[in-house]
Amino acid sequence: MELRRELLTAEMIEPGTGQLVRTTIEVRFDPLTGHSSRILPERGLMPASDFDLEAFARESQPRCPFCLGRVDRLTPKLAARIHPDGRIARGDAVLFANLHAYSSHSSVSVYSPRLHYLPLGEITQRLLTDNLATQVAFAKAVMAADPQSRWASINANHMLPSGSSLFHPHLQGIVDSQPTTMQRMLADVPPQRFDAYLDAERRSGERYLGDTGRIQWIASFAPIAPAELRAFIGGISSPAELDDDLIGELAHGLVLILGAYAEMGFQSFNCAIYGAPPATEGYPLNLRLACRSNLKPFYRSDSTFLERLHWEGAVDLAPESVARQIGERFRG
Ligand SMILES: [Zn+2]
Repeated sequence: MELRRELLTAEMIEPGTGQLVRTTIEVRFDPLTGHSSRILPERGLMPASDFDLEAFARESQPRCPFCLGRVDRLTPKLAARIHPDGRIARGDAVLFANLHAYSSHSSVSVYSPRLHYLPLGEITQRLLTDNLATQVAFAKAVMAADPQSRWASINANHMLPSGSSLFHPHLQGIVDSQPTTMQRMLADVPPQRFDAYLDAERRSGERYLGDTGRIQWIASFAPIAPAELRAFIGGISSPAELDDDLIGELAHGLVLILGAYAEMGFQSFNCAIYGAPPATEGYPLNLRLACRSNLKPFYRSDSTFLERLHWEGAVDLAPESVARQIGERFRG
């Protein structure tokens, strides 16, 4: 498989010097969905976090509905036909119904009602494993109760610039009869394309992070968001098919990445695990994870007219440099 890219050159007369300056912009095409992305020269579009998140956490904590002492009273329960207890708990993690539904079945799960403040570098494998396990149990429970809802995804808006309306760290689950646009596009990719893409990335090595057992991790060739990474889990097509071993492996890889993101100065991210219906032949369950701008007054959003309205990625973090910074953790 050819990983397609085109080079563009921009020219301008520099203010002050009057010199002609040329800039190279690389347009890359995603080998799975065909969307394109612009890799810009490094221009400091994603400054490291200098915001006092801990102070903001202290300020928002007294009114937080996800915190210990309030979560039981202030969050909605799941319908009885989905789960008789109304909530799903694993370790410290607790899953409940989303007050603001985005689909037939929408859930929210906190890592722990005790963890109102959870910087990326402090997310442990235990916390992620338990939280993912609540979402897997939710997807299974919904599919058993409502067989029409076969499209499941597990997602994260972590910290405010990511779209999260509540500070308290959590995951969100969607299980629906209708796929999202990206779920539909990915499920339509011919199975051989996934294999060819992963083969090409393994051979090149420039963006391949590693293989943690049954999951392969890479930096996206044509990212739609900053420091975007992808993972592919062969043999299953839905989060509802994740067993305990795979949940642990997934959590392990995610913790390596979130630790690296923290070291790179990022504190906000989005994640999506894009399920197709269970047992979809040839579709590997796949995941995308990316950083978001850091929280601070008058920050620059990483989501511009290009991403929102043209569906075109534009990043100044070259995928190969992201892979160099994160890959070492996968090689131990
Ligand atoms: Zn809280």
